Amino acid sequence: MTVEVESKMLDKPETTTRAPSAAGDDVAKFRTAVIAKLTYAVGKNPAAASDRDWFLATAFATRDRIVDRWVTSTRQTYSEGRKRVYYLSLEFLIGRLLFDALTNLEMLETVRAALGDLGVDLDRLRQVEPDAALGNGGLGRLAACFMDSMATLSIAAYGYGIRYDHGLFRQVIKNGWQQEYPEDWLSFGNPWEFERPEVTYDVGFGGSVEAVAVGGDRKKQVWHPAEQVEAVAYDTPIVGWRGRHVNTLRLWSARATDPLRLDAFNQGDHMGALADQVKAEAISKVLYPSDATPAGQELRLRQEYFFTAASLHDLIRRHVDTFGDVRSLPDKASIQLNDTHPSIAVAELMRVLIDEHDIEWAQAWDITNRTISYTNHTLLPEALETWPVPLMERVLPRHMQIIYLINALHIESVRKAFPGDDALLSSVSLIQEDHGRRVRMGNLAFLGSHSINGVAALHSELMKTTVFKDFYRIYPERMNNKTNGITFRRWLNEANPALTNLLVETCGPEVLDDPGALKKLEAMAGDSALHDKLAAVRRQNKVALSRLIRDRLDIKVNPGALFDVQIKRIHEYKRQLLNVLETIALYDAMRANPAKAWAPRVKIFSGKAAASYHMAKLIIKLANDVAKVVNDDPTVRDLLKVVFLPNYNVSLAEVIIPAADLSEQISTAGMEASGTGNMKMALNGALTIGTLDGANVEIKEHVGDDNIFIFGLTAQEVEDRRAAGIDEAGAIAASPHLGEVLDAVAGGVFSPDEPDRYKPLVDALRHHDYFLVTPDFDSYWDAQRRVDALWNNRPGWWTASAINTANMGWFSSDRTISEYARDIWHVPVLQTR
Ligand SMILES: *Cc1c(COP(=O)(O)O)cnc(C)c1O
Repeated sequence: MTVEVESKMLDKPETTTRAPSAAGDDVAKFRTAVIAKLTYAVGKNPAAASDRDWFLATAFATRDRIVDRWVTSTRQTYSEGRKRVYYLSLEFLIGRLLFDALTNLEMLETVRAALGDLGVDLDRLRQVEPDAALGNGGLGRLAACFMDSMATLSIAAYGYGIRYDHGLFRQVIKNGWQQEYPEDWLSFGNPWEFERPEVTYDVGFGGSVEAVAVGGDRKKQVWHPAEQVEAVAYDTPIVGWRGRHVNTLRLWSARATDPLRLDAFNQGDHMGALADQVKAEAISKVLYPSDATPAGQELRLRQEYFFTAASLHDLIRRHVDTFGDVRSLPDKASIQLNDTHPSIAVAELMRVLIDEHDIEWAQAWDITNRTISYTNHTLLPEALETWPVPLMERVLPRHMQIIYLINALHIESVRKAFPGDDALLSSVSLIQEDHGRRVRMGNLAFLGSHSINGVAALHSELMKTTVFKDFYRIYPERMNNKTNGITFRRWLNEANPALTNLLVETCGPEVLDDPGALKKLEAMAGDSALHDKLAAVRRQNKVALSRLIRDRLDIKVNPGALFDVQIKRIHEYKRQLLNVLETIALYDAMRANPAKAWAPRVKIFSGKAAASYHMAKLIIKLANDVAKVVNDDPTVRDLLKVVFLPNYNVSLAEVIIPAADLSEQISTAGMEASGTGNMKMALNGALTIGTLDGANVEIKEHVGDDNIFIFGLTAQEVEDRRAAGIDEAGAIAASPHLGEVLDAVAGGVFSPDEPDRYKPLVDALRHHDYFLVTPDFDSYWDAQRRVDALWNNRPGWWTASAINTANMGWFSSDRTISEYARDIWHVPVLQTR
C-alpha cells in the first residue's frame, strides 16, 4: 500500500530496487567534478579551501546532476501538455538541502567516497550549510514536505513563495530569556538557486481606478497603480525520490523598478534618493515571525499580494504560451492556497481575467472557482486573517471593488436560497461589519475555491461546526479532509540512517518506495532480537544528541535515561506549560522519595516564541529556570535533567527526533489542526503521550490504543467546560500535586531573584485558564506514570515502539499528496511501488 488511493497512475518506474553502493568510476567522476567546481566556480585551490568552499563545490557538482533531470522533466511536461499544480505558500521551511538532494539522487555513498579521497569529511560539510528557514513551523514545513512528495510522485508542480533575505530569527537564550537575532542564510551565497533576471513582473500598489468608456455604454475599469515593485524569480530545483522527477520552487524577490532617484541623489539627498528602493525591497526583506496568529500590518498585506500577483502572472503567461487561451486554465492548472495568506489570488485572478483578458464576469468567476482550492490551517476565529477596508482600498483599490462585487452577487444568491436568514448573510459575507469594516480573507478563499480542506480528520469535522459552519450549509460538497503527512526521505532516511538500514534489513528494500511495507515489522514486534537492534539504534542516536547537549549547554545527560521530548513553536495552546508543571511535580516527588524505582528522565524542550508573545517567552524562561534548579540539585542527579535547546529548526529536529523515546503532543483538544511533529517522532519509534487532538487521533487509530498514552479532555469536553465555566479552583483543589506546584512557582522558588516573575502565568492558571491546563493536569500526571511503568518493562516498551513504526506508513506525505491529486487537482501520480 504506498498510496491506498486510486489515483490515475503514471507508468511504473523501471528501477525499484536499492541502488548498488558507490561504483568506482562514479566516485572518480564526482571527484573530478568537485575539483572543477572548487577551482572554477568557487575560485579556490584544494590546499586553501575551507569547509565552506568544499560545501559550495559539492553542492554545485550535485546541482549539475539535478539540472540534467530538471530539463528532462520540464520538457516532458510541456510535450505531454500535462496539467500543472501550483502550490502557493508564504512559507517554505526547507532546512538544509545537501543530504536531501544526495539521498534522493542515491549519491550519498558516492559523494562520501569521492570527498574522502580528497581528505574531506562529508558529515562536516553537512554542518556548514545554513538552514533555509523561510517559515515559522508546521505550515511551512508541510509545504516543504509536499514539494518533496510532488516531485517523488512526478506531479508537474511549482511551489511559489517569497525569497526572504532573512528567514525566521535566530533564537539565543540569555539568562533563560529568549533573544531574537536576524538570521542570514544568504550571506555566503546559495548554491541551490538560479536567479532568473529575465523572469520579472511588475506588481502594482495603490493609486486609483478609472472607468473608461469602450464603445457603446460599456465601461472598463482601469487601475493606475501609484507604485510598481518588480518581482524577480529565483528557482530552486526540487528533486524527488530516486531522482525520477524534478520540480521548481520559484521564490520572488522584490526590487525597485528604479534603483535610485538620480535627481535627488545629485542634489545631495542621498537618503531620499534611496527611499523608494528601500520601501520596495522591504517586501522580501524578512519573514513575519508570527505563528498561528495573523501579523496584521500593511507590510504583510504587501508581501501577500506581491507574491500572489507575481505567481499568477507567471502561471497565466505559461498557460497562454502553451495552450493559447486563458479560458482553458482550469483544465491545465490547479492553484492550491496554503492557508489564507495567498487568498487575494481570488480577486487578482478575477482582475486579470476581466481587466486584462476581457472575459465577462460570470465566465471569469467560473474559471477562478474551478482553478483555485484552499487549505485551512486554523480554527481559532481570532487567528483568521482580516484586513481593514480602508487599508485595502488604499493598497489594492481595484481588488476592493472586485471583492465588493463578488460579495454582492454572493449575498444575493444566499438570500434567494435561504430567505429571511439575516444571521446567515452576515456570517458568510466577505465584509465584517462590526468593530470597523474588514475584509474576511477566509471567507474570500472559501468562496473562490471549489475545494476547501482541513488537515486532519478531527480538524476537518470541526471546520464544519465552527469557522465555516455557515458556509457548510451552503456548500457542503466543497469541504473535505486531507490529513497531513511528512516526507519519509527527510524524516526517516536522512535523519535516521541507522533505523532505515534496520528497516531495510527486516522489511526488505521495498520499504524505501512503499511505506506500507513497514507493516511487516508488526509480525516481529515482540521479538527480543528485534528489540535489541531497535534499542541499539536508539542508543546510538541518543549518544549523538547527548553530545550535542553537552557541547551547546554544558549539561551531561545519561543516554540510558528516557528522553522525553517536546519540540515545536512555543504557544499557550501547545501547553509546554503543562509539561513544565509536571516536571516540577515529578522533581518534588523524586526528591521526597529518591529511592523509589523511578524511570530516569531527560526532559527536552526546544522551540521559538513569536517576539511579541509575552506569555510564550515567559514559559521559555520558566523552563530554563526550572532546568537550573533541577540540574543543580544532587538529590535527583541520576533521575532527572531538564534541557532547553536553543534555536529549534529543521536541522536540530533531525538530530532530536531519532533520539526521542517519548513524544509530547499535549495541546488543548480542538486547538492543534494536525501537527506533523507527532508523525515524525512516531515514525522513528517514539511513543506518543498526547491528547485527542489533530492527527493524534488518527495516529492512535493506526498504532492502537495500547501503544499510545492518551489523556485529557476531548474537544467536545473542552467546549462544554469553557461554556460551563472552567472551575480552575476546583481542579487545583482536587489535585494531589498541582496546588503545591503553583504555590512554588508563584512563591519564587524558581525565580528567587524576582519572586513575582511568574505571577502572570500563575494568575492565568488560577483564574482564566483558557487552555485548560488545570483540569488536564492530573490525567497528564497519571499518563506519565503509565509511561514510567512501560519504560520499566523493556520488552513491552520496544514492542510498542516497533508497532508504532510499523503502522506509520499511512502518514507519508506521498499518501497525502496522492489524495490531493485524486480529489482536488485531478492529476495523475506515479505509482511508486
Ligand atoms: C515538524 C516541524 C514543526 C511542526 O511541529 P509540530 O509539533 O507539528 O508543531 C515545526 N518546526 C520544525 C522545524 C519542524 O520540523
